[in-house]
Amino acid sequence: MDKIKTENYYRALNNENLCSCNYCRNYYKEVKETYPELSDYLARMGIDIEKPLETMPLEPFEGSIEYIAVQYIAMGNATNFKNENIEGVHICIADSHPTTDIDEEHYVIEIYPLRLNWTV
Ligand SMILES: [Zn+2]
Repeated sequence: MDKIKTENYYRALNNENLCSCNYCRNYYKEVKETYPELSDYLARMGIDIEKPLETMPLEPFEGSIEYIAVQYIAMGNATNFKNENIEGVHICIADSHPTTDIDEEHYVIEIYPLRLNWTV
């Protein structure tokens, strides 16, 4: 993978590029505080945990919500990628994902499952 290109990609992503539904807004708001080590791990790959490509939420229940999977773009190739498990969250390569509109070499990772407070 290419950390510098990945960092540049996330730096260039702003709010208008991100989904603004309640599920996603809750995710942006809560994820870093709930999963600090996971957040650091992704940051070491150049990925900003608050800027997912896609979230797959269940319905909020009794003040919390589960995301069965969340996907992120990584620039470069996946040759050196290793599956990981951090704070109970699996990190792997996504089997399928939405179209990305990126011309350069990239891949998509998936993290799952995550449980967050529902606060939006
Ligand atoms: Zn959304």
